[in-house]
Amino acid sequence: MKVLVINCGSSSLKYQLIETDTEAVLVSGLCERIGIDGRLVYKPANGEKRIFDDPLPDHKVGVSNVIAALTNPEYGVIKDLSEIEAVGHRVLHCGEAFKESVLINDEVINIIEGVTEFGPLHIPANLIGIRACRALMPDVPQVAVFDTSFHMTMPKKAYVYAIPYKYYEEYRVRRYGFHGTSHSYVSKRCIELAGLDKDNSKVIVCHLGNGASVTAVLNGKSVDTSMGLSPLEGLVMGTRSGDIDPACLEFIAKKEGFTLPEMVNVLNKKSGVFGVSGVSSDFRDLDAAAKEGNERAILAREMFCYRVAKYVGAYAAAMNGVDAIAFTAGVGENDGKVRKMICDYFGYLGVKVDDEKNAIRGEEVMISTADSKVKVLAIPTNEELAIAQETVALVK
Ligand code: ADP
Repeated sequence: MKVLVINCGSSSLKYQLIETDTEAVLVSGLCERIGIDGRLVYKPANGEKRIFDDPLPDHKVGVSNVIAALTNPEYGVIKDLSEIEAVGHRVLHCGEAFKESVLINDEVINIIEGVTEFGPLHIPANLIGIRACRALMPDVPQVAVFDTSFHMTMPKKAYVYAIPYKYYEEYRVRRYGFHGTSHSYVSKRCIELAGLDKDNSKVIVCHLGNGASVTAVLNGKSVDTSMGLSPLEGLVMGTRSGDIDPACLEFIAKKEGFTLPEMVNVLNKKSGVFGVSGVSSDFRDLDAAAKEGNERAILAREMFCYRVAKYVGAYAAAMNGVDAIAFTAGVGENDGKVRKMICDYFGYLGVKVDDEKNAIRGEEVMISTADSKVKVLAIPTNEELAIAQETVALVK
């Protein structure tokens, strides 16, 4: 089945056309600078990359131009629109409404709109993408795949915050968790690759990208995750602080004369390894600076790894053990040094890393030795394929 996967941001729209029977990506690309001027990047698997500079006043024009490129007689990959059998949309949040992906109808759109305050930047953009596709392809089924729904299996003790309970009851303030599509996809691959019995498995997934989170996956289901109401909680990230004593907010705000939104902006955009190192949010830059002896870059990387290790330890406790640990996303897939620094904390779990295998980048690879008590894997995430597969499952 050919599925168009759409991931809409406020001024961008990433897309992939996937043949799910073979898992082949037929075309990938993005619309950028929507509402500013416009740029459409189109990359067919078997052809040359093209860039179009036609104006993109809104997302609907973006989707329309993507369809025009896909069906172009010269460089398109399908004859006409009818070959697209379904559209899968990445959607940030569904509140507590859905435990799984859903077929989109008017009611679903209303529900997503109703949780806009949980993702004021992302959700309006997600909805614009959905509406644009429905207008242009009214007969094609559309599916919403949420970043949060994989975590809806968490028990209450893991998702309720220890604040007055009425804030949960009245405002639904709780841990939701994010990167759900990635954690779901990678935990499934991990169970397969490690040869585990899904119904008797304890897996910890470390999604380490610019945004980063760890999830405890017990018997294939998320039972705890490090991100919370928003993607700010948990690990030290590229520019986000992760866990911090909330009292720091008032203390620093008073000193600097910041408002609360200004303070939260510091935690989201100016913190993490960027804030500590003063160098960069990118681990390749940190590595280069560390090699030159930059102490704050070294510290930032150590803090990042230490925080991941603490979460893995906590989740091994939460599940009363761990069979496999999987690393994924930009840092997790590529940075063997970081993987090694994290795994060095797990001697007590019987983890042993094979240095040769750990040097491999961007591939599915078991990086632990044959006699390691816990299997450790690097597994490239594939959120688009996961969205396409979820879409097919609902449409068939
Ligand atoms: P996101 O989707 O959260 O933006 P990604 O999963 O794409 O993030 O990860 C991006 C990050 O991955 C970069 O900021 C960089 O730190 C890291 N990264 C990418 N490639 C490498 C590499 N070869 N070595 C080390 N780190 C890398």
